[in-house]
Amino acid sequence: MKKPILYIVIPCYNEQEVLPITCSMFLKKILELIDREKIDEQSKILFVNDGSKDNTWEIIVELSKKNPHYIGISQSRNRGHQNAVLAGLMEAKDKCDITISIDCDGQDDINAMDQMVEEYWNGCEIVYGVRSKRDTDTWFKRTTALGFYRFMNSMGVDLVYNHADYRLVSSRALEAFSDFKEVNLFLRGMFPLVGFKSTSVYYERHERIAGESHYPLSKMLSLAFDGITSLSVKPIRIIVALGILISLISFIGVIWSVSVRLMGHSVDGWASTISTICFIGGIQLLCIGVIGEYIGKIYMEVKKRPRYIISEKTGTIYEKEN
Ligand code: UDP
Ligand code: MG
Repeated sequence: MKKPILYIVIPCYNEQEVLPITCSMFLKKILELIDREKIDEQSKILFVNDGSKDNTWEIIVELSKKNPHYIGISQSRNRGHQNAVLAGLMEAKDKCDITISIDCDGQDDINAMDQMVEEYWNGCEIVYGVRSKRDTDTWFKRTTALGFYRFMNSMGVDLVYNHADYRLVSSRALEAFSDFKEVNLFLRGMFPLVGFKSTSVYYERHERIAGESHYPLSKMLSLAFDGITSLSVKPIRIIVALGILISLISFIGVIWSVSVRLMGHSVDGWASTISTICFIGGIQLLCIGVIGEYIGKIYMEVKKRPRYIISEKTGTIYEKEN
């Protein structure tokens, strides 16, 4: 088999503290893999600057001048992690044989790439990096993450447990993936839908080398909510089931109160009547909210706005010879 050209795709947002430290780790890994004849020497480290407000882009430009393995693209503004990864993957798609996406903060063990590339040589087209231990994450993050995976699975979304966005994808799988045109991105839920032979490799997650996480609880919840509503219509089905159940209960209630009235008794308990009305009103609002979320998603999708806009590029890029 021909040695594959590897592109390591790294989204970066305000990472001026991290990048000067982690860049050499990525370079070392790529040189090591080239040395071991596992990848082609045209392999690259592709940084995607996601509209950073600090000196991240300047650092990337400097790196690309120092070493031809470093290249970079810059998004015209901050679009979020998922869009930054997508921009990098689409940029790499026609130029390489495999991509590995990884965060730039050194949390994901870079040595797992050896096994990922090995699995590619064994015929796998998608290799998921899976965190075997999350000791460095807080108890809260671990527990919410576990709850999230369980909930997603119960919603019918196929997710690889404890896999984030550290994954190897072959250009063939990427080509197939590029037909997924949705604007609402939840990459870790989309790649399992692409299919092809895939496997997982396990690694331990480290602490962030420097800087701070860009994923506070509010953003994590919004990603989770996006993931569910982008990939599953089960919540709407649950609403329908809930509607049927509540209607049934109310129907029985009506029959009961009418029969009691006909028997000459009056039904007491206005308080319970009011609380039932409030309860049902609350549920109705919640259901309308969930349906509204889907309509909002449809609205965003039909506009077909670009998912990323690249404003600048840096570094030497070769077109792939076939
Ligand atoms: N990131 C990005 N755009 C954003 C937020 C984050 O490109 O709007 C990048 C960030 O630079 C990092 C990766 O996405 O490389 C993961 O972010 P972070 O480490 O903050 O998330 P965490 O690991 O805490 O979930
Ligand atoms: Mg991180």
